[in-house]
This record gives sequence, structure tokens and C-alpha cells, in this order.
Amino acid sequence: DPRIRSIQSKIRVVPNFPKPGIMFQDITTLLLDPKAFKDTIDLFVDRYKGKSISVVAGIEARGFIFGPPIALAIGAKFVPLRKRKKLPGKVYREEYDLEYGSDCIEMHVGAVDPGERALVVDDLIATGGTLRAAMNLLERAEAEVVECACVIEIPDLKGRDRLNGKPLYVLVESQ
Ligand code: 5GP
Repeated sequence: DPRIRSIQSKIRVVPNFPKPGIMFQDITTLLLDPKAFKDTIDLFVDRYKGKSISVVAGIEARGFIFGPPIALAIGAKFVPLRKRKKLPGKVYREEYDLEYGSDCIEMHVGAVDPGERALVVDDLIATGGTLRAAMNLLERAEAEVVECACVIEIPDLKGRDRLNGKPLYVLVESQ
């Protein structure tokens, strides 16, 4: 698909950000190109429309950029999965390990009903820890995670193998 190549070309790689040795994949440059941004959303929408997905769960912060337009286009609700203590209601919380220390994400109790079919969206999968925590939140609400979707995968980190056998769909691999 020629759209994939153009999307890839709009992702800026920033060496040594946020710390030495990291090749940061910057999606803000993709957002500056309306055609490439629309192609990104359209590729996901084409894949997920008609699949009876009723929940798109987006991970803070960049899952909040890609998730809502997908949710609107496929007629699903959007559920934000937020960092610690941002949500005002009762929450499910999942902690996960980082290279140094740990992080957590939360989801409102009652946002998702048992049996709902969910898609989890983020910009990028690295180790897979974040997506795994997101899937755990949805499973605690007894939703069925149909698939995880990201714009970018860093294949060397094998995050895909941490998703409990759930399918992962990505548009491009990191350069
Ligand atoms: P993981 O939990 O898979 O190791 O890391 C993925 C999370 O970290 C995602 O929420 C993603 O937004 C963020 N992340 C890690 N590295 C990068 C990067 O190079 N570029 C962007 N845009 N996000 C990153």
C-alpha cells in the first residue's frame, strides 16, 4: 500500500531523546501532513469497520490523538486510559515496570460493560508493557480485547510477544 510508505516518511526520528541512546519516533511531524494523518486513520478504519467493535480504548497521551477519530468513524465509544490520578471516578489501576521504576494507567469503572468488544490504540509499541497493562484493564472490566493497534512497532524489543497471544496490528516498523 503506497500510503504506508508516505506515513513512514513523515515520522521523524530524533536521536538521543529523551535520553542518550534512544531513537525517538516522533509522530508530531505525521500530524502536520493532513493527507498522511488521514491515511493513517483510514487504514485503521478500513481494518476495523464492520467488526462489531463497541469500544476504542486510547492510551494517554498519543493514543488520544489516533483513537478518537477511529472510534467516531467505526461508531464505537472512546475510553481514555489515563496516567495515575487523572480520572475523577472510581478506577481500575494497572501498574507496570519501566526500565527504571514503574508506571501505571487507569480506566473508569463502568466505562466498559462486560462482553464489549474492544480495540486498544496507541502510537507505538516498544517493550509492550503499556499495551499489556491496557489489555489487563479491559479484561478486568470483562471486555473482550479484539486487537491492539499502533502506528509504529520497534520490532527488536519483541513487545508483541508480551501481549498474551492477542493480535497486534501496526502500520510501520521503526527506522
Ligand atoms: P512500551 O510500554 O511498549 O515499552 O512503550 C510504549 C509507550 O511508550 C507508548 O505509550 C509510547 O507512546 C511511548 N514511547 C516509547 N518510545 C517512544 C518513541 O520512540 N516514540 C513515541 N512517540 N512514543 C514512545
